[in-house]
Amino acid sequence: MRYRDQRRSESAPARQNFTPRKSMGQNFLQDEEISRWIGDQVQPDGADLVVEIGPGMGALTKHLVGRPKKLILIEKDAQLGPELQGQFEGRGDVEVIHNDATRIDLRPWFRHGPLKLVGNLPYSVGGEILKHWLTPPTPVSCAVFMLQKEVCDRLAATCEDDSYGALSLLVQKDWNVEMLRVVPPEVFNPKPKVDSAIIRLTPRDPATLPVFDHVLFDRLVRMGFSQRRKQLKNLLPDAPGGWDSLIQALGVSPTVRAEALSLAQWIQIARHYEQRHE
Ligand code: SAM
Repeated sequence: MRYRDQRRSESAPARQNFTPRKSMGQNFLQDEEISRWIGDQVQPDGADLVVEIGPGMGALTKHLVGRPKKLILIEKDAQLGPELQGQFEGRGDVEVIHNDATRIDLRPWFRHGPLKLVGNLPYSVGGEILKHWLTPPTPVSCAVFMLQKEVCDRLAATCEDDSYGALSLLVQKDWNVEMLRVVPPEVFNPKPKVDSAIIRLTPRDPATLPVFDHVLFDRLVRMGFSQRRKQLKNLLPDAPGGWDSLIQALGVSPTVRAEALSLAQWIQIARHYEQRHE
């Protein structure tokens, strides 16, 4: 096993007197069945490169090791390096990288071809990790993450759901999101204050959507959801050809709010605003 220390080194504690750090989002999974189940959702096979973010003390890792061709572990807490090293000593198919998964340079990863990503993520930086790894272009072909349930609800929501918002659309334009399982606080040590959930993200086939300007889409969605109680016509810039022509094309009420519109309708809005530049 290789250990690459890409950050400043700190002293290494023994496992028994290791105090979990809140600042690192360290809620360690204690339930073997759930750990194994998460490993199975990644469906690692002998040709895969699998990257685990935040392996901690290896609760998920031990159900992944030996299944893909190569398993790379990215852990920010230097104190956990020796713990991981000890567990997987002598294995050529496991590599531990001491680095911050919100900042690590992804460019070298494209050389490996598609990779599968997995992690019981540190909740405080879950959003940053999603953005860093899943914003196209990305080498990721599948991601299985545990996050706060509330965040998973927002990621998976469609326009019928209470949790539906800008985050749902910004992610779903590029990814299929599956809500897999809810996980209670009791299976962690220390226990988080909220429920968690496991989601799987796989790239959306671009052929299933019309071509649209993603930068413009993101900007319009953020504007549209910036004040939830306001009607969309008061939040978006003047529509080319007037608001009525846009409303007619969408087939909705002139007083429509952002959360009543589906992904397909938001794409239609972005395409409508593109006309301005034609
Ligand atoms: N996978 C282990 C488990 O399931 O028990 C630990 C999960 S714990 C919720 C999150 C892990 O992510 C911790 O080991 C923590 O040190 C690590 N971590 C926190 N911030 C990180 C970052 N920016 N990059 C990589 N790892 C990070």
